[in-house]
Amino acid sequence: MHEPLRLQLSTLPQGSSAVDLEFAVSELGLASADAEFVDPVRVALGIQRQDDQLQVRGTASVAIRQVCVRCLNEAAREMTAAVSVVVRAQARRDAGAEAPDGLIYHDGEIVDLAGEIRDALLLEIPPAPVCRSECRGLCPRCGADLNAGPCECGAAGGRDTRWAALQALTGPAAAKSPARKKPALEARTRAKPARKKQV
Ligand SMILES: [Zn+2]
Ligand SMILES: [Zn+2]
Repeated sequence: MHEPLRLQLSTLPQGSSAVDLEFAVSELGLASADAEFVDPVRVALGIQRQDDQLQVRGTASVAIRQVCVRCLNEAAREMTAAVSVVVRAQARRDAGAEAPDGLIYHDGEIVDLAGEIRDALLLEIPPAPVCRSECRGLCPRCGADLNAGPCECGAAGGRDTRWAALQALTGPAAAKSPARKKPALEARTRAKPARKKQV
């Protein structure tokens, strides 16, 4: 496997330099159950080198395909992750100490940024993707895609009684009503003795 993000330390000059790379998803070993990655991965990094320490900052981008959580059609988007890594010489590593986030070590020859870039991109995957923000989703009764227009069963718009029942169990509107009833009851029982005293 060609490993585009394994940089030779000897090729990185002191001071600032830039690394712009484009390579296949498979070369980065990028994979997730939540998204399909589409070639290529683009990486644009600025590198600050001082002696054997590097500060790497930039972005990694890749297109992804997911399944829209509302309508189950494809949700495709370009994803860009910020990259910020400090790279120190392995020889200077404290024995037994675990590297904090964003700090990796080089062996004096190879600076391997693959892991950091892979992690940055995986963290950027939307947990609840939608094909577009105004996606209307599927009719809860007949399953028709409401983006194509109102369905034939006429349940669109949440008028389906079974859907309403489900919303009553899970929706924010339902969560309020039992909570409201209790204080109202307490208020009435408290109010009663007060009225008796007045009479
Ligand atoms: Zn959708
Ligand atoms: Zn319907």
